[in-house]
Amino acid sequence: MRNAELMQRDLNVLWHPCTQMQDHEWLPLIPIRRGQGVWLEDYDGNRYLDAISSWWVNLFGHANPRITAAVVAQAQTLEHVLLAGFSHAPAIELAERLVRIAPKNLTRVFYADNGSAGVEVALKMSYHYWRNLGFTKKTRFITLSNSYHGETLGALAVGNVALYKETYKPLLMEVLTAPSPDCYLREPGENCENYSLRRCQDLELILENYADSVSAIIVEPLVQCAGGMRMYHPAYLTRLRTLCDHYQVHLIADEIAVGFGRTGTMFACEQAHISPDFLCLSKGLTGGYLPLCTVLTSETIYQAFYDDYSKLTAFLHSHSYTGNPLACAAAVASLNIFEQDQIIASNKHLATAMAKATACLANHPHVAEVRQTGMIVAIELVRNKNDRTPFPWQERRGLRVYQHALNKGALLRPLGNVIYFMPPYVITTKEIEWLAQIVAEGINLAVHD
Ligand code: PMP
Repeated sequence: MRNAELMQRDLNVLWHPCTQMQDHEWLPLIPIRRGQGVWLEDYDGNRYLDAISSWWVNLFGHANPRITAAVVAQAQTLEHVLLAGFSHAPAIELAERLVRIAPKNLTRVFYADNGSAGVEVALKMSYHYWRNLGFTKKTRFITLSNSYHGETLGALAVGNVALYKETYKPLLMEVLTAPSPDCYLREPGENCENYSLRRCQDLELILENYADSVSAIIVEPLVQCAGGMRMYHPAYLTRLRTLCDHYQVHLIADEIAVGFGRTGTMFACEQAHISPDFLCLSKGLTGGYLPLCTVLTSETIYQAFYDDYSKLTAFLHSHSYTGNPLACAAAVASLNIFEQDQIIASNKHLATAMAKATACLANHPHVAEVRQTGMIVAIELVRNKNDRTPFPWQERRGLRVYQHALNKGALLRPLGNVIYFMPPYVITTKEIEWLAQIVAEGINLAVHD
């Protein structure tokens, strides 16, 4: 079988996510036959370095032998059982392990089966907690501008990226929106910490006026990923924790994208020395093998639901595949790799290599900024470097970089005009340097009119 045949069969039957399907009249779809480490291989034998970890899920390479073995062993033992009234060792072990490594006070684990579903769980649980305590007016949520939390209706409502949200707005609950601490927006000469803290003052005004009706604030700690890999200072999160305590509003940390080492620490919240009231984890949770999400919360919140059956205080939320054993086994295997190979420490030299390889791109006349948090590097393309005028989105400059990278053998799907690396942790220094070279060439092609 060849690429062309599979592409035709695909286009006859599939409808792809986040895609204008008409684009595939001229943009070839790439059917992937197998993966190994950072590499993907198509049906014509072409190879692509997966520099974005297949939408940020893959941590230890494709077809990782250790995770594969764990999933195979689990599939031969128990593929699935409902998690209500029944339980199983992989779900228990994974929960115990997560509690051990998560920020303190997060001692209870609730399973969902994808990131958006986990966000829905956190929102519902927060609201329901206040309701169980008699605070029935706390029904609203605060979000940050430029945030992304998924695309089911609740998750979409608390997100703020216009591209995903605008069309569906009439279907969504209203939320309060505070300005993002995104340091790209800081004044010339202003440091990142100052800017992020300044944005906290705007948030405090909202809390002052509306805290009585607010259940929780939801944030992506340190990096707003889908919003263009926009980054901010940990001091914002530290201050946010204090404000949430003061105004009696929950803090939901959506670490679905940034958890598991992406920001340089196991969890981004560690850099601000805080514990959120809810911690949502997904994507890298299973090393990129299977869909799974966990929502970690505190004993205080758990206890508010623990009561006599007849009082109807129990948390009502279920997915058929809640805590799927195959996914839990993959996640446990992934945590074993973190421990055995001391990944957080060993990633430091990869982060340094990413910084070194991309540093010279900052001088390019159409690059406004090269920014980095841990294992995430982003390069922001603009029409005018001096005043940071963006390229109009219709010009699809980022897409040109994408196409150039594909021709060279790299998967670098940009976010609009933001090119980024968020690679599996098995990438080598040489491969990082090679990617940076492809990006430099791609940018030169993309900025020409
Ligand atoms: N939250 C964040 C921060 C995300 O980046 C994403 C996915 N990009 C989600 C939630 C939604 O996760 P899923 O795609 O698994 O629904």
